[in-house]
Amino acid sequence: MSWITTASRLLLLVAASAALGWFYGYPREAVIVVLLAWIGTWLYQMQRLQLWLKNTGKPPPGAFGSWDELYAPIYSQQRKNSKENAQLQSTVEYLQDSFAAMRDGVIMVDQHGAIQWLNRAVEPLLGLRHPEDTGQTLTNLVRAPEFNQYFLSRDYRKPLQYHAIGDNRSSYLRVDVTHFGEGERLLFIRDISSQVRLENMRRDFVANVSHELRTPLTVISGYLSTILDNSQELPQRYVRPLQQMDQQAQRMESLLKDLLWLSRIESEKLEDERELVDVRALLQELKDELSEAYKDATIELNIEADDKVYGDYRQLYSAVSNLVFNAIKYSPAGSTVTINWVSQDNKLLLQVCDKGIGIDSSHIPRLTERFYRVDDSRNSETGGTGLGLAIVKHVAVAHAATLEIQSKLGEGSTFTLVFPNSASTQS
Ligand code: ADP
Repeated sequence: MSWITTASRLLLLVAASAALGWFYGYPREAVIVVLLAWIGTWLYQMQRLQLWLKNTGKPPPGAFGSWDELYAPIYSQQRKNSKENAQLQSTVEYLQDSFAAMRDGVIMVDQHGAIQWLNRAVEPLLGLRHPEDTGQTLTNLVRAPEFNQYFLSRDYRKPLQYHAIGDNRSSYLRVDVTHFGEGERLLFIRDISSQVRLENMRRDFVANVSHELRTPLTVISGYLSTILDNSQELPQRYVRPLQQMDQQAQRMESLLKDLLWLSRIESEKLEDERELVDVRALLQELKDELSEAYKDATIELNIEADDKVYGDYRQLYSAVSNLVFNAIKYSPAGSTVTINWVSQDNKLLLQVCDKGIGIDSSHIPRLTERFYRVDDSRNSETGGTGLGLAIVKHVAVAHAATLEIQSKLGEGSTFTLVFPNSASTQS
């Protein structure tokens, strides 16, 4: 019913009461009484409506006129809402049931850092109590400083991996955090101890095998060089095979050297050897050494930054020398290799650029894998070990840097070590 109808009814009532009142000689009083009665009825209906709204879910009480028409749409909206709520509730329960059944720990945290919900698997991982710790501030309950620092940083682009030492257990945990809703966070905690143990075993195995192979190989190549030093006394038909054996022995030696160096970088704690590395001096030393070794290549230095980097001098030296060595190897004789040390967008870039043979883009994502080769024939020609870029990548990771590779087949390549500014300091 529209407000015009309601207003017309009120006018009609006022007119009728005025007419009746005039007939009895009290027109004004009659109108006032009728208006008061009208207001009283409306107040009564409003109170009923309020009461009914408080007890949601009940069918509307009977009313008359426009009031009756008001109840109907409100009631139908209420029923729709409660149906949607029930659906939402069952979805939430379903999700909670599936999270509860997971073997990984799951925690939901509100925007203030208080635990909204957690599953039972969190108990042994973080030492929380399920469900008693619901409502508590997460960082007040977890004792690991790495965890709390990571959680409070709100930078969850990379997962956290840390060694958790509890009262009677020690494990490696991986924590993934996702933002959702309005500032809420969802945490997944996984025990990765067995993966870490396997990885350590693999690393130790490679290091031990390389170490054990080194001694016999040194003896073999020692004898081979001595024999070849006196090659004029040898029957001619043995000279070529012995030269090839010597070449391969040398190749194996550099392979073992790289393998040992790689496992050392992987297991070394950078903090032990950390110092302020003067990148300018490092690059100058490297240029002098490589220019001497590769006389037909030109190495150009372009140093625009004065920053030093907190890190390990030997590791950084080996990473850049691998990059420059590759740039020379994979470029035609006599070409120029440029090394840039520049500051850009709050980051420090160490670039090695060449105008060599380049790499097809399909190979780029896999280049830093151990022994990955773009072309096997190309490799045997150059005598590489296939470990150079793996070493560079590990050095980058140990220095919180990233390795970016840009290359175009036939045009050349640029390998960039990108250091965050926090890894450095201005001299
Ligand atoms: P390798 O000892 O074979 O050089 P690396 O790990 O150093 O091993 O490099 C992996 C592969 O990447 C190389 O085999 C080569 O095909 C390619 N590569 C690396 N650097 C360059 C470069 N500057 N130009 C072209 N190809 C390159």
